Amino acid sequence: MKVSKFGGTSVASAQQIKKVAAIIKAEPARKIIVVSAPGKRFVEDVKVTDLLINLSAAALRDESTKEPLAQVVARYSEITDELGLDNTIKHVIETDLLNRLQADKSSPPLFADSIKASGEDNSAKLIAAYLTSIGLPAEYVNPFDAGLFVNDLPERAQALPEAYERLATLQHKQTITVFPGFFGYTRNGTLRTFERGGSDITGSILAAAVKAELYENFTDVDCVFAANPRVVNNPVEIEQMTYREMRELSYAGFAVLHDEALMPVFKAAVPLCIRNTNNPSAPGTMIVAERDHSLHPVTGISADSGFSTLYVSKYLMNREIGFGRKLLQILEDEAISYEHIPSGIDNLSVILRSHQLTTDKEQRIIDRVKSELNADDVHIRSDFSMIVLVGEGMNNQKGLTARAANAFARTGVNIEMINQGSSEVSLVFGILKADEQKIVNELYKEFFEPALVH
Ligand code: ASP
Repeated sequence: MKVSKFGGTSVASAQQIKKVAAIIKAEPARKIIVVSAPGKRFVEDVKVTDLLINLSAAALRDESTKEPLAQVVARYSEITDELGLDNTIKHVIETDLLNRLQADKSSPPLFADSIKASGEDNSAKLIAAYLTSIGLPAEYVNPFDAGLFVNDLPERAQALPEAYERLATLQHKQTITVFPGFFGYTRNGTLRTFERGGSDITGSILAAAVKAELYENFTDVDCVFAANPRVVNNPVEIEQMTYREMRELSYAGFAVLHDEALMPVFKAAVPLCIRNTNNPSAPGTMIVAERDHSLHPVTGISADSGFSTLYVSKYLMNREIGFGRKLLQILEDEAISYEHIPSGIDNLSVILRSHQLTTDKEQRIIDRVKSELNADDVHIRSDFSMIVLVGEGMNNQKGLTARAANAFARTGVNIEMINQGSSEVSLVFGILKADEQKIVNELYKEFFEPALVH
């Protein structure tokens, strides 16, 4: 049995949903289908989830919801009409939205979660109706009824362990299950959404629960590329990579899959395949537990901007017990998480995502580090990018760091920070954002087109 998840662009229009149906029809093993809300049909289009966010915001401000509601209903109407479905499903969707808008607004996040989740919920109802209408008996399954129980965090819920046991029974259904992505329910029946892009997570949870032979994640690209195609000209396609490699790549800018979506399938050892709804004959990228890395020690190069460094130096820091803890406590007090802590003998840098900082926070941190830790020097600098070179093969291949350093030397780009995680699956370089594209291209040449540089 396969669990197949179709993302927003795959269900954005009647034409796309017809492609989804053809994919389901082509393989009877595709028994559990997870769907997103209709996404963008063209670049300037607005996703239904974003229309729903506008709708819930208008309702919470007690403004008229007529226009934003009409926009959502219009998207579904257009799809149902073009699919040749009768008015029943349209009526179900409109009534559902009106009911949700009538709900109690005393907890705005709770109200907003319910409105947002209607995107996936109604998409699943519509697609189940369509599949049935073309002779593929399908059933919409509600996440509460199926037991997708989550904790109580609005907008970033996480599945509870018992959910897996409950959801396992879905494998016994005779008909095709159409399951809405993006949300679950607390044990007492309160709806909670995952983070944005969270339908990937639903698919992964379901695939793990039913121990699927494969979790297929259908999107709008043929595969995962070894580098960002907007930066590198015609990068190679990654045919296969490990869960750990995907995790490292998605950390810094590879946005093909929500990063929380890897864990459930990884734990259950279910392989994952990224595939293209618009080109289903392309084999896609397989994500597996182990791969033969003798030929390609490096799998991909990712890059992400928006990092800051907090630099602290103090003579004899290495001998001071508790220095690191006290420094991190200051960050914890400001509710800041960190990414890396490269350190020297008398200094260290804490690298963090810049969006967490404000001018006030920066000043408070600097003042406290100076006064409480008696640091000799402390400053915060921003506009850094992290370049991540990812590959299982780095573990036992000598000379890879030297090759990367050569690529840096050729461009003249200064390495501000270098960090080889203890997993040895990645090498992380901190550089100034301005140098990002230049260095990604040079590293790509070094590891994927060596004939051009040697
Ligand atoms: N529709 C939601 C979003 O746009 C969830 C998803 O598509 O995965 O974030």
